[in-house]
Amino acid sequence: MIDTHCHIFLEEFDADRDACVAAAKAAGLSLLLLPNIDPSTAGRLAETCALYPDFTLPMMGLHPTSVDGDYKQQLALTEQLLARGGYCAVGEIGLDLHWGGSYLREQKDAFETQLRWSLQLGLPVSIHCRDAFAELFDSFRQVEGAERLRGVFHCFQGTEAELGQALAMDGFYLGVGGSSTYKNSKLPPLLLRAGLERLLLETDAPYLPPVPYRGQRNQPAYMAETAGKLAALFGLPEEVVDKKTSTNAADLFNLRAGREFLS
Ligand SMILES: [Zn+2]
Repeated sequence: MIDTHCHIFLEEFDADRDACVAAAKAAGLSLLLLPNIDPSTAGRLAETCALYPDFTLPMMGLHPTSVDGDYKQQLALTEQLLARGGYCAVGEIGLDLHWGGSYLREQKDAFETQLRWSLQLGLPVSIHCRDAFAELFDSFRQVEGAERLRGVFHCFQGTEAELGQALAMDGFYLGVGGSSTYKNSKLPPLLLRAGLERLLLETDAPYLPPVPYRGQRNQPAYMAETAGKLAALFGLPEEVVDKKTSTNAADLFNLRAGREFLS
């Protein structure tokens, strides 16, 4: 299995990162994809990937919650980091209006700029969208060539109508994490409608732990709970779900091409 979205480079893992990597391998994971947050976390990200070169791949991007009045400077730094190469995606990027609409204009500009970079570089995108689907789809309309974008709506939390819009974008998958296991989750019927061919597994560790780990720090090994939940939902053996979602991830993130993109 491939955890397509986790942040084991953050300080929440400083005390036991080796143990979490070992636990992930023991739980059947073969690769962790690590989206950046902002330039201040890029050093940790690179160090973590250097420590586990056969088990981790970095993404580079500026997260919407890190976008503020200083975002042009943050974007310029992110562009320099991206130019170094070796990334499997531009991420994580997107829009977050959960805490209100402040910096919406700046968030949209940063998002659209990074979508253009992904098109120029031929890289997929890992998208974070919280309470902002209308604005997100407006941003896609602002980007020339957006129909050629490929990526994942990480931790998809949209409505049925938004699911329809997301699925209409051919090159896009939905990232399924711990929140799909919560008792009050509205996701199961939406995931069935999307179909396994459009789903990826992820944890978003250290955030959003699946049942029965709620309230604890999440870690990649816990992805097995989400995989089990998805298998039960689709009425399929867990191996089938593991294999299909891993194949989807390999297709999206060009993981078949070998490791030559790790410059
Ligand atoms: Zn994330």
